[in-house]
Order: sequence, then C-alpha cells, then structure tokens
Amino acid sequence: AAAANRIAAGEVVERPASAIKELVENALDAGARRIAVAYADGGKTLIRVSDDGHGIPAEELPLALSRHATSKIDGTDLTNIRSFGFRGEALPSLGAVGRLTVTSRAAGAAEAASISVRGEEQGATRPAALAKGTVVELAGLFTATPARLKFLRSDRAEAQAIGEILRRLAMAAPGVGFTLSDVTDQGSPREILRLDPEPGELFDGLPARLRAILGPDFAENALAVEAEREGIALGGFAALPTFSRGAAVAQHLFVNGRPVRDKLLLGALRAAYSDVLARDRHPAAALFLTCEPEAVDVNVHPAKAEVRFRDPGLVRGLVIGALKQMLAGAGH
Ligand code: ADP
Ligand code: MG
Repeated sequence: AAAANRIAAGEVVERPASAIKELVENALDAGARRIAVAYADGGKTLIRVSDDGHGIPAEELPLALSRHATSKIDGTDLTNIRSFGFRGEALPSLGAVGRLTVTSRAAGAAEAASISVRGEEQGATRPAALAKGTVVELAGLFTATPARLKFLRSDRAEAQAIGEILRRLAMAAPGVGFTLSDVTDQGSPREILRLDPEPGELFDGLPARLRAILGPDFAENALAVEAEREGIALGGFAALPTFSRGAAVAQHLFVNGRPVRDKLLLGALRAAYSDVLARDRHPAAALFLTCEPEAVDVNVHPAKAEVRFRDPGLVRGLVIGALKQMLAGAGH
C-alpha cells in the first residue's frame, strides 16, 4: 500500500509548488479570508499554509488524512463539483511524500487539535494551540524517495514556481488576502508577496488584484472583456496588442475560479489576436469563464489543469467573439 500511495501521490505532488496549490485550494474551499504561505529552501525542507477558514473538527482529522476521504461531495455526483477539491487525494498524497502535520480549530471548538503522518504511520490526534482555522505543514518533501528529490530544480527555481502558482490562485480570489514568506533563515523571514484582501463581492476587486499581481503596465493597457452565451459567462481583462509579449507568460485562464492551461482556451485567445499580432507575439490576458459545473468536466487530469467542455465550439466562439469585440472597440 505504501508503494501504491507513493505512485499515486506523484500525480498530485510533483514539486513544492504543486503541494502548495493543493493546500491553498483547500484553504479557499474552507472559506478562508486570509491565507499565509511559507517555505524554506524552495519548499524542499518546509512548506506551510495557514488559513482562517472553517477548520476541521478534531474527530475528523484522522479521516481527512485518509485516501479518498473528502467532505466536499458525496461521491455520487462528479458532474456537480463547485469546490476545488473532490478527490480526497491531496492530504494523503502529501502524507506519503513527506512529514505532514495538520493543526486545526473548527469554528466553535473549545481547542485546536493536531495530527501528524509520515508514510503509512499516522500519529494520534493531540490538543494544540491555534486561535482559528488550519495550519498544514509538510517537512522534508521527497526525503524518503531520493530519486524524486533529484528531479527538483534549484531552491530558487522551486521558490519561483511557488510564487507563480500563488499569484495565479490569488488572481481568482481578489477578496482573499495572501502573504508569501521565505523562512529559510528562521531568524529573519523574508516577505516575498503581500496581497491585501480587496473589498466587495467576488470580482469587484479584480482590477485592483490584477494591478497588484500583473503590474500597472498591464492594468493601463488592458480592457475589460465581458460576454455570455447559453449560460457560459466570460469576464476579465485582456491587453491591447501593443502590450503583447515575446512569450506566452502572461496568459492567465480560469474556469470556475480554477487556474487552467487549457488548449482550447489558449487556442481561442491566440486566434482572436491573429489578425492584429505578429506570429511571435503573445497577447496578455486574465480571463475567467464561469458556467454550471455540468457544462465542464474538470476531472480530466489529476493536476486539474486541463478541462473538457461539453460544447467546445460554443466556448471557443464565445472567447474569440468577446476578444474581437474588445479589440474592435479599441480600434483594432
Ligand atoms: P479534497 O480537497 O479533495 O476534499 P484533500 O485531501 O485535499 O481532499 O482534503 C481532505 C479533507 O480535509 C477535505 O475534504 C476537507 O474536509 C479537509 N480539509 C483539508 N484542508 C482543509 C482546510 N485548510 N480547512 C478545512 N478543511 C480542510
Ligand atoms: Mg483538496
């Protein structure tokens, strides 16, 4: 079972950044308003995600670390998924690749509780000190599997990947505050990123959040995109052709709040600009598709970066149409 767990875990946890993605998604699913992420040595020796969400009741802690235990769906309806998580795989996968400690205080609980797991060995649930929410720590990622450890890049490169994934998740949650700290030198932690929660409903704070993450240049050269077809809504901002890039680095696509790198959407973005951009230039955009869960299958890939739309043609047409309309309005 230990080996099987490690193999399965590899699909979810490839590197520190993918572990952080799972933990931040859990925090968002828990309704957190503030999420603090810390790492040491590029995340190889320590990853810590703290949130102020609804927490986990002490008696449910052992279950949360068990394979295929999820509190988010009842397991019968995979077509109606509104949370990030639904497989109940992340925490057990993390427990299989490092020393995992979860400390949590459920809303209304008299005290916090903590549980640790390493490989197949789950410790006892113990009382702990925590005011609110959940803290998940993963220490010594891949130390039990040196072959996997070898595939990690330099601390710097891993730290950069962590920053990228956190910025991407933060774009889709403007109402949530985020901090990212490098705690390699425990005596003097270094704050890498601080994003204050933006006021207002859901996407009211999007312009301010995009400005904070993508910079004032993007904000000043991007126009709002908004369209809707048959229950699929598109929103966000896309840059004018003058603000294009030499690489496709500034293309941020989200489906129901989930960051995706989806071929269909990337292709639609490229196609919309094909008349106004040279072939070696790439448009910058942060686009958000929202639809009923039934209209999209997010269950295609374990890392959930690819999605499958029920009606791909409809989505492609929607994206191209909205972007072309924005460009035409700006005189292109
Ligand atoms: P999934 O997210 O697919 O449900 P996970 O393995 O990521 O599976 O998490 C297992 C369960 O642990 C979740 O369903 C949830 O009940 C609980 N959980 C994990 N992280 C948190 C958190 N930060 N706050 C509250 N509950 C959490
Ligand atoms: Mg999860």
